[in-house]
Amino acid sequence: MTTIAVPTDLTAFGAHLHTRLADLTAEFARPTEAAGDENDRIAAVEELREGHEDEVSRLREFQRALFDAGVAWPSGPPELGGLGLTPAHDAVLDDVLDDMGFPTREALFVGLNIVAPALRAHAPDELRNSALPALFRGELIGCQLFSEPGAGSDLAGVSTRAVRDGDDWVLHGQKVWTSMGHLADVGEALVRTDPAAPKHAGLTMFLVDMHAPGVTVRPIRQMTGGAAFNEVFLDGVRVPDSHRIGGVGEGWKVASTSLGNERSTMSGAAGPLTPYVMERTVALVRRLGAEADPVHRPQIAKTVAAVTAMRAAAGLTPGSWSHNLAPVSGSVLKMLMTRALDEIAHLAEAVLGERAFVDHGEKDAFAWSEFVLGVPALHLAGGTDEIQYNVIAQRGLGLPRR
Ligand SMILES: Cc1cc2nc3c(=O)[nH]c(=O)nc-3n(C[C@H](O)[C@H](O)[C@H](O)COP(=O)(O)OP(=O)(O)OC[C@H]3O[C@@H](n4cnc5c(N)ncnc54)[C@H](O)[C@@H]3O)c2cc1C
Repeated sequence: MTTIAVPTDLTAFGAHLHTRLADLTAEFARPTEAAGDENDRIAAVEELREGHEDEVSRLREFQRALFDAGVAWPSGPPELGGLGLTPAHDAVLDDVLDDMGFPTREALFVGLNIVAPALRAHAPDELRNSALPALFRGELIGCQLFSEPGAGSDLAGVSTRAVRDGDDWVLHGQKVWTSMGHLADVGEALVRTDPAAPKHAGLTMFLVDMHAPGVTVRPIRQMTGGAAFNEVFLDGVRVPDSHRIGGVGEGWKVASTSLGNERSTMSGAAGPLTPYVMERTVALVRRLGAEADPVHRPQIAKTVAAVTAMRAAAGLTPGSWSHNLAPVSGSVLKMLMTRALDEIAHLAEAVLGERAFVDHGEKDAFAWSEFVLGVPALHLAGGTDEIQYNVIAQRGLGLPRR
C-alpha cells in the first residue's frame, strides 16, 4: 500500500485537501449558483426537518466518504482514523469543504465538536475506540443532553438522576433544547449521581443510546418554522457503566471539555458563519445594488467590520492570545461571531425590506427570513451572551463577581 504524505503547513494542507476531495464533488457538492438554483435556503441554525431523512442519509454517506478518503478528522489520532494534526487543520478542512461546495455538516456538529472531544479526553479505552471512529464515519450522530427545564445557564443544577443498578445505571429525568436529538443515535448526558454532594461534585457523564427503551424525543417548533431541537424524556433508561465518560462525580470536568470546544468551534467554518453565508450576503448586496446606496452603506461597513474582527480573532494561533484571555478565547470568539451574524441579519433586513418576510416568489429574498429569525437563537445556544460576559470578566479579566 502506498501512503500519501500529508503536509502540515496549513496552506499546503488546504491544497492537499482540494486535490484529495476532487473526486467527491460530482457526487456530493451542491450546485455552484445556489442563489439561482431551486433551493435558495439560507439558515443560521441548520434545520433538517421532518421528511428530510434522505438528506440525513446523504450526509452520513458524505461523512463516510470523507473518512474513507482519510481526511474526516485531521486532529484525531491515526489509530482511530485521524491524521494526528491539530485543531487548526480541522478548521482548514471545514473551510475547504465549504469552499468546494460540499453540504453543510451542521447535523453532525454536536457529535464531532462537542461529544467527540469529551470522549477523546475522558472515556475509557473501549468506548473511546469504538464510538469515536463511528462518529467520524457518520455511523453515529451525536447530541448533547445537558440543558433541562430547570437548568440552563446554571447547568450544574441539573436534576436528571442516575442510580447504579449492578453493571448499569438507570436514568430518570428530562432534557430540553436538544439540537438534532431527533436524528441522534447517541447523547452525551450530564446527570446527577450524588444529590448529597455539592452541586458541581455530584454529577457524572454518560453516553446514552438514543434508541434505548425509555428515551422519548419530542420536537420543539421554532419561529423559523423548523424544529431543530427537542425535548428528551429519560424514563428508566439503562446505561451500562462501560458507557460512563469520566469518573463518577467528575461530570462537570467532562462538561467543561465539551462546552469549551463547542464555543470555539461554533465560531469556525463548522459553525453558522460560513464562507457560504458571506458569499450569499455579498451576492445579495450586489444584486440589489445596495453598495452604492448611501442609506445602506453604514450598515454594510458595520457588517464588514464585524466579520473582519471575527475572522481576525478566529485566525489567531493559541499562542497569540493574551495570557488572560487565552483560557476564555472560546467565549470571546462566540461573542464576536454572534455580533457578526447580527450585522448580516440587519443588513439583509435593511436591503430586502418587507421582501425578507413576505414571499413574493422572488429568488434570494424570502429565503433570508429563516436566517434573520434564526440568529437570535445563537445568543443563547452554547451559553447566553450574559454568561459569556461573566466568563470573560471573571475568568479572563479577573473582575470580581457581583
Ligand atoms: C439554538 C439552540 C440550540 C441549543 N442546543 C442545545 C443542545 O443541543 N443541548 C443542550 O443541552 N442545550 C442546548 N441549548 C440550550 C442552551 O444551552 C440554553 O438555552 C442556554 O444555556 C440558556 O439556558 P436557559 O434557556 O435555561 O436560560 P436561563 O439560564 O434561564 O437564562 C435566562 C436569562 O437569564 C440570564 N442569566 C442567567 N443566569 C445569569 C447570570 N448568572 N448572570 C447574568 N445573566 C444570567 C441569561 O443570560 C438569559 O438571558 C440550545 C439553545 C438554543 C437556543
